[in-house]
Amino acid sequence: MKVIQIKYLNLFALLILSCSLFGQVNKYPLDTDYHKNKDVLSSINRWSKAYPSVFYSEVIGYSSNDKLPIRSFKISFNPNEKQFDKPSILIIGQIHASEPLGVEICMGFAEYLLKNYQKNERIKSLLRAYSFHFIPTLNPEGFEVVSSGTYANHRKNKSDTNANKRFDRGIDGVDINRNFPLNWNNEIQSLSTDPYYAGPSPASENETIAIMDYMRRERFYLTVNYHSSFLGDHNERIFFPWNWSGTKSPHWHEMKAIATIFSKNLKGDYSTSNYLVHTGNTSKVGFFRDWAYSETGTYFFDIEVGGIYKKKSIIFPENKMRQVIVNKNIQALVNTLEYLDINTKRIKIINENSKPVILSPICYNTLNQTQVKPLMSNEKGMLFIFIPQDKKKINLYIADKKYIVKKSNNNKATITIKE
Ligand SMILES: [Zn+2]
Repeated sequence: MKVIQIKYLNLFALLILSCSLFGQVNKYPLDTDYHKNKDVLSSINRWSKAYPSVFYSEVIGYSSNDKLPIRSFKISFNPNEKQFDKPSILIIGQIHASEPLGVEICMGFAEYLLKNYQKNERIKSLLRAYSFHFIPTLNPEGFEVVSSGTYANHRKNKSDTNANKRFDRGIDGVDINRNFPLNWNNEIQSLSTDPYYAGPSPASENETIAIMDYMRRERFYLTVNYHSSFLGDHNERIFFPWNWSGTKSPHWHEMKAIATIFSKNLKGDYSTSNYLVHTGNTSKVGFFRDWAYSETGTYFFDIEVGGIYKKKSIIFPENKMRQVIVNKNIQALVNTLEYLDINTKRIKIINENSKPVILSPICYNTLNQTQVKPLMSNEKGMLFIFIPQDKKKINLYIADKKYIVKKSNNNKATITIKE
């Protein structure tokens, strides 16, 4: 009996210990393993020395107020050149300063690829299939406020929107994720002190312009942008473009299929249910994801990381839970990108003389693609299309002519067009 009691006591102690270890509370200032801007930079410097054959970094712009560099890096074979024979993936850690978990996932996934691409066949295959681009934070000046331990609830950048010539934390700034030109709406978020303030005009912010230029230049196949729900209203949810009062984007079903794979691989932090694929209505408020998809054709996912525990949104978990969340999301990325690779058709578009047809506008699914710009064959005449598992063929329209691409075991196809 005594032995049993001790056993139970130990079990109880273990339970208490594991509760505190598993970070069911927000810890702020952030726990020690979280990155700050300077840690992001030192990792980039370290990786560029350690992995020169697959690593390339650049600065894509400077933040609006403090002129901090917005850093991107690429992990790919021949990283100094653009790869036209494979699709590009973009992982963005955060756009909202108060959402640091995505920075951790972004940096964690990059490190996982670098450490494993030589010894792990699955990761080597992923690197053969894609080139990977990363932006740990699109909002480095806002991230500095939050990651330095100064103030937890600063969402925006640091633009002096109340024009008093000093920075007011939690008040100043523009919500970069409301600042994009598609459906930019200053009437809903007109108050400059509102946490969702859309800015004085579309693309008024340096951060917005930097990422717009970058996305137009690179034309990503798939983009993931991580968020966390500070208020706890949409934790562990996956959003994609768009469902405007029942009007769905032309590739809504394709993106829903990809989001479903993400969801299957993402169990909740403190619940047994998986991340929810958001299929309901979405707002028309100048979202980054809607602009990026409509302008460049990228399949785009906003993933809201961080669970609910006892009705509280846990988005600054302690080190141990931070690591659990990072690992889970790395595996979700690996599994989803493998699925995407298997179901991606690589189409070469040539003319009658077998020359690649480059930068040709191509409509996918529907000829009258009014809400989104046509896709484009790239500088080598290649086009990458995801065909969901329940589809046997897809229709492409090039210069008003219809081409049928059948699904087959071979994920390559050639289309010859008459010019
Ligand atoms: Zn967010």
